[in-house]
Amino acid sequence: MPVRSSAPQTGRKLNDCVTVKTWHGGRTSALSLTFDDSSRDHVRHVKPILDRFGCTATFYVITAALDTAEDRNAGWEEFASVAADGHEIGSHTVTHARLRGLPQGGSGQPNTCEWEIAFSKSEIERRYPGVRCLTMSYPFADSDADIETIARRHYLSARVGDFFPDNPIWNSASPTDWMRIVSFIPRFPPRRTTPEGDLPELERTKKLIGLAIERGEWAVIMIHSVVPFELVESYGGYETMSTEWLEALCGWIRTRGDIWLDTVAHVTLYARERDAVRVEGFTAAGDKIEFALVDDLDTTIFNHPLTLEVNVPGDWRRVRVLGAASVPEAIDVTDGHVRFDAVPAQGRVRLEKRTQGRPIL
Ligand SMILES: [Zn+2]
Repeated sequence: MPVRSSAPQTGRKLNDCVTVKTWHGGRTSALSLTFDDSSRDHVRHVKPILDRFGCTATFYVITAALDTAEDRNAGWEEFASVAADGHEIGSHTVTHARLRGLPQGGSGQPNTCEWEIAFSKSEIERRYPGVRCLTMSYPFADSDADIETIARRHYLSARVGDFFPDNPIWNSASPTDWMRIVSFIPRFPPRRTTPEGDLPELERTKKLIGLAIERGEWAVIMIHSVVPFELVESYGGYETMSTEWLEALCGWIRTRGDIWLDTVAHVTLYARERDAVRVEGFTAAGDKIEFALVDDLDTTIFNHPLTLEVNVPGDWRRVRVLGAASVPEAIDVTDGHVRFDAVPAQGRVRLEKRTQGRPIL
């Protein structure tokens, strides 16, 4: 059983002055919404809701289904708008075959386990130039050690099911196995007569996410089809969610300042960088603090900004930060520190004391 502390760690000290926050923006927990099977309702119903609430999510697509775009499956063109708007396009394999039954094979050998895992990734990256396909989910949430070994060769993380509400254990801030990121599937009543009948599951889902907040963990939700409530009964499908339910969940997430909602890829990048990063060449003299934020990761992939807190001398009120990501000209000191984002391995970060009231040049 994983060991857990009662209170979440809010960060890791890189030296006496510099702390990297556990989650982006100093939030208490992370949350990813994941949508499986590239169905058309993801483009038609899910994306508009996410856009309205400013939510970013992960879509695990079946690449052969995108090729045919039959029945309820969206095609590559329809899904392009999802990719273009900054949502993650992850792999749910080529054909959604149960991987456990397949020969291991190789990337170039059709209908083998490695082909299902690797060819789907190269197809996504070929169809959507500029998109990096970094994470996957196993069909039927089913995998074993051999499958996970292959997945590890091609992805930074992979999602399973395995979240049991009766014994809720979310992903820790530093998952021990990146190829087994657990997720929770909201379950709805067998007969759906009124939207209110789905509300107990909303309350349970919020409560379970609340546990991740309490423990500083990463909650992942697995979702399949989403249609307006009036259609859920006739639509059928697997644990089909109503648009009303998804809206209510997104609305609640937006009220929570303690949840960092982002894609599986972004949370993976952040956590792996956060645990690998260190400070080098730290100097603090006069009105300047300088250091390099370094790690040994591949900087072409691991380039997500990390949230840092840097303690500054007691007489500093405003600070200019150079060499960091998206920082305004000068930021205010709060409780003896400044907080900002910086991408590792981008040269030296420099903090300069600004005199209050003096115009920033
Ligand atoms: Zn699936």
